[in-house]
Amino acid sequence: MTRRTDVLVVGGGVTGVGVARDLAMRGADVVLVERDRLAEGTTGRMHGLLHSGARYAVADPESAEQCIRENAILRDVASHCVEDTGGMFVSLAGDDQEYFQEKLAACEAAGIPTDQVTPDVARQIEPELAETVERAFLVPDAAIDPFRLVAANAASAENHGATILTGHDVTDIDVSGGTVEGVTVATESGDTEEIEAAHVVNAAGPWVDAVLDGLSVDVPVEPAKGAMAVTNSRPVDTVVNRCRPKGEGDILVPHETTAILGTTDEPIDDPDDFDESRREIEFLTEELAEMVPSLTDARLIRSYWGVRPLYDPDADGGDSTATSRDFAVLDHEARDGIAGLTTVLGGKLTTYRLMAERVADEVGDKLDLQRGCRTGTEPLPGSRGEVDVREIMDRYEVRSPVGARTSERLGDRTEDVLDSGSPNPVVCECEAVTAAEIRDAIDTSGPDLGAVRMQTRATMGTCQGGFCSHRLALLLPAEYDQETVWEELEALLAERWRGQRFSLDGDHLSQVALNRALYHLSLNVRQATSERVDLDFERYDGGQPRGELSSGHEGGSQEGTR
Ligand SMILES: Cc1cc2nc3c(=O)[nH]c(=O)nc-3n(C[C@H](O)[C@H](O)[C@H](O)COP(=O)(O)OP(=O)(O)OC[C@H]3O[C@@H](n4cnc5c(N)ncnc54)[C@H](O)[C@@H]3O)c2cc1C
Repeated sequence: MTRRTDVLVVGGGVTGVGVARDLAMRGADVVLVERDRLAEGTTGRMHGLLHSGARYAVADPESAEQCIRENAILRDVASHCVEDTGGMFVSLAGDDQEYFQEKLAACEAAGIPTDQVTPDVARQIEPELAETVERAFLVPDAAIDPFRLVAANAASAENHGATILTGHDVTDIDVSGGTVEGVTVATESGDTEEIEAAHVVNAAGPWVDAVLDGLSVDVPVEPAKGAMAVTNSRPVDTVVNRCRPKGEGDILVPHETTAILGTTDEPIDDPDDFDESRREIEFLTEELAEMVPSLTDARLIRSYWGVRPLYDPDADGGDSTATSRDFAVLDHEARDGIAGLTTVLGGKLTTYRLMAERVADEVGDKLDLQRGCRTGTEPLPGSRGEVDVREIMDRYEVRSPVGARTSERLGDRTEDVLDSGSPNPVVCECEAVTAAEIRDAIDTSGPDLGAVRMQTRATMGTCQGGFCSHRLALLLPAEYDQETVWEELEALLAERWRGQRFSLDGDHLSQVALNRALYHLSLNVRQATSERVDLDFERYDGGQPRGELSSGHEGGSQEGTR
């Protein structure tokens, strides 16, 4: 049976789920298709900064103004995704002091509040700051969790009637007589499906041009890669930015139990095929250690790269740090004579809601939707709940800091998730995640342990899943067969390994060796030629044990890839 919908959204990053939610709230029938899992593209590989706009204030004032407005809105409607860390811009001895003044003036012009502090006060706030800090000012930057934000938007879109299909790859946009009729998708199971749609929104991030392949349409996307590295601790509690014009290796973002070093900015040709090197990670450490010297000896637990879908109508493949962070909504009817097709690209995660609103305004006009935008005021699921952490800790016997971290992540869903009646041990000690949270994520994501990781942060701390990956696998309910459980465990471990391959020194090398011994030597995970030993841990629900993960399974995809 062919599916039919008003709007088909391509891409399950923050832009796509934002568009799906906004249009569903306006009463449209919406289907979102994502080729992989949600937040698997750029959105899951960004820096975690809720911009105040100060970074763009001098070079890109329009983006700066958008950021400060959206920053205030997201603190309100997505409060459980935001940590109010505050931000600081510092200027070191030898840095251009005129630029410091220019930045302060530009922030004021863009409506970004600033508070200049002395170097001593800056070091009281952040004791790890270098002695060479000469000037500093504070701005309302914050940390944001992209996975939680995407999950909340997707849940809200579904609550408003949208359908979200992961593992659905759009292979063609079907056009007849100059009008879009729908799309053809290839599913994970190898089937081909046609989905009819009155309108298609292309929100495929750096892949927007690939989605349009086959149509005579050219979109000005300039993909640019950026490297990031994660420390096992939080040397700063404030977002620390270097106040200088060039934007590489100049920002450190505290994120949950870690901090993220970033970033670089280099044009690439193909978002699916680009070089990742240890040198880029060394560059970040060296540059950022000028602001925070203790980073020289920091334990890096992983590194990762993302690709910006920059919008550049004048793209020439040159310096992409100069490319605008503004976004574009392209109406292909007016532009290319193809009715029923819109592409959205550029922007930031911080401005995703505004981007979605602009897309929904345009599509809403075409489809004659009567309702307007409500995403600026209606909280996302989980946001803005009044959670009494002490009371929750007593009632559900979760101890601090586990209770505090659980309620920070879940917001007003905390009680619903903890109220399962099953025993609730801590599963991931590094990130203080209990079995109840894992079960809740499995309920929404199925057996995909990568999606469970994104939703809960389990396996994302210091040991990188060394002590909890098997526990996640054992919480998969008995309806999933042993083969599925092994495959999911292997995929999770392979993904964790991929991010650690440039962290093979110092203390973290011992951790990687231990993880390998635990999973590869003891359990024979990914040893295609030898038999696995049995796993007979008790299931974490304390009820009937899952039994055993039997021996003899032949694992075996390539090391380091999923
Ligand atoms: C290094 C780096 C650091 C960043 N840091 C920040 C930051 O700190 N703060 C901030 O606000 N912004 C930041 N950004 C920008 C921000 O991450 C992006 O603007 C945003 O995540 C883009 O989201 P998106 O949904 O448009 O794209 P994506 O997240 O890439 O989503 C597109 C989706 O489309 C899917 N797709 C592709 N082709 C198909 C197909 N044929 N069929 C179905 N699905 C398909 C992909 O799998 C993907 O999931 C950063 C970006 C980078 C690269």
